[in-house]
Amino acid sequence: MDLHKEVYIPKPSPFDPDENGHFGKFGGRFVPETLMPALEQLRKDYEAVRFDKDFWAEVDYYYKNYVGRPSALYYAENLSKELDAKIYLKREDLNHTGAHKINHCVAQAVLAKRLGKKKIIAETGAGQHGVATATVAALFGLECEVFMGAKDVARQELNVFRMKLLGAKVHAVESGSKTLKDAMNDAIRHWVTNARDTYYLIGTVAGPHPYPMMVRDIQSIIGWEAKEQLKAAEGCLPDKIIACIGGGSNALGIFSHFLEDESVECIGIEAGGEGLECKHGCSLEKGSPGVLHGQLSYLLQDEDGQVQEAHSISAGLDYPGIGPEHAFLKDKGIVTYSHITDVEALDAFVWLSQSEGIIPALESSHAIAYLKKMKPEEIKGKIILVNLSGRGDKDMIQVKDILKEQFQD
Ligand SMILES: *Cc1c(COP(=O)(O)O)cnc(C)c1O
Repeated sequence: MDLHKEVYIPKPSPFDPDENGHFGKFGGRFVPETLMPALEQLRKDYEAVRFDKDFWAEVDYYYKNYVGRPSALYYAENLSKELDAKIYLKREDLNHTGAHKINHCVAQAVLAKRLGKKKIIAETGAGQHGVATATVAALFGLECEVFMGAKDVARQELNVFRMKLLGAKVHAVESGSKTLKDAMNDAIRHWVTNARDTYYLIGTVAGPHPYPMMVRDIQSIIGWEAKEQLKAAEGCLPDKIIACIGGGSNALGIFSHFLEDESVECIGIEAGGEGLECKHGCSLEKGSPGVLHGQLSYLLQDEDGQVQEAHSISAGLDYPGIGPEHAFLKDKGIVTYSHITDVEALDAFVWLSQSEGIIPALESSHAIAYLKKMKPEEIKGKIILVNLSGRGDKDMIQVKDILKEQFQD
């Protein structure tokens, strides 16, 4: 199969949610009654294009000419030698704007345009989703408004500037803890009154139905490509696939085409932050079922059900919730979940930079770090696929500050 020619069209999956968006007991649509008509309309609109060749051909045009797909599958020679295994990196870091996020932004923007919407709104935590959304809004000539907690606006100056440069308007949300969850509430509220001409672009496999399924369908191109590329390189399936998890989109993107392959172990890595007894982002390991962002899933919350702030060195894994399909896959034991701490991720950031000449995003460094966390006998002679979800350019200032002593001459 020639991936440069082929158009990817998702297929129905055995892990599809029911009509109301339930993955087992998770998912659903927990939103104000006034938002239900807009969600129901979007569900129908997406169903209409979900397996439609013309729709995906249009998306594919931008993937190939704008994003730079298919992304490379790179055999990491030096890591492989060091670990006595075969390590392959799926290079989502090579995409335009530097991560996998551009995939679901392009496809949703094509959908928005087809639906005749004039405006895109999004919420963002650290700003990476806001930047990717502002990028496609500029590309397709759509107005763009991004909701961002006031605290995040202050600490993510550079991304705020990027969004503005790309022509987006950034709302600093002053309510609550002035972070991501407050920005989500405001974005939902804004959508309720503006759904007619506005598309709400969600940036991971979370939110009310149909978003978790739709974003997973879109991102599943990663695993589809990787499966073909690995077949060409090795003639077989990988033994393990590792991906980091914030909301879970790059992970489901690479896992989806392998979930039915019994011999493949999919491993999702959450942000261990300062350790599981301190501040972290491990919704699956340490959270409990609760409602956030219009969905029921595992959630970091206190005894009163108040959402707790997540912590991670990497802004993209700093999400107190998790996509509902992951909650389901965890409970069914289909995917293995583990975590990597800030310190281990930083170590892997330097390790990959110096062993392969690839500076990974801090998020992706969590997946890389897991290669070192496994016991040698677990990986010896195995074929391991790691999703390199993004590049580290955006993290330079932060990492330079932390590691300045290590790199003094
Ligand atoms: C946003 C981001 C993530 C986390 O989001 P998921 O939906 O879990 O994939 C991971 N890696 C990078 C580079 C990101 O920008």
